[in-house]
Amino acid sequence: MTIRTISIDFDGVLHQYTSPWLNAKTIYDPPVPGAIDFLRELITSFKWDVCIFSTRNTEPAGVKAMQKWLVENGLEEAWVTRIRFPLEKPLAWIGLDDRIITFEGFFPKEAELWNFKPWNKRDAGIAPQEHDAVSAQSDAARDQEEHRQGSTEAKQA
Ligand SMILES: [Mg+2]
Repeated sequence: MTIRTISIDFDGVLHQYTSPWLNAKTIYDPPVPGAIDFLRELITSFKWDVCIFSTRNTEPAGVKAMQKWLVENGLEEAWVTRIRFPLEKPLAWIGLDDRIITFEGFFPKEAELWNFKPWNKRDAGIAPQEHDAVSAQSDAARDQEEHRQGSTEAKQA
């Protein structure tokens, strides 16, 4: 079976990170809603090499703190031990990060980079507690669209 590597950022993706940075081993906040289930889903699929790639990885105490935080927030220890915490950017199929722009073949304006705000710091950003409602809405819209396409295809057949 093909195993693919995912490189996941910690602060602002898994960890809510609403308080300022203190040090590698201090993790103030709870997870972003859905983070623990997301990790569990990837790990238990046995299709993913799950890497948490964080500046916290540079200190053993930082890695220990993240592992402890994951267990305290409900990820089974057996799954936590399967997560890698590489020191160098892993060769990954995909990355998940709150401070990255997906490159689509054209370069962003300098000001766009300078003024960049991660999802949870934007005025019109989706607050974590609203996320479930928003994704339920988009699921419903997608289902409707699939249903519509399905009935068009059925008519064409
Ligand atoms: Mg981040």
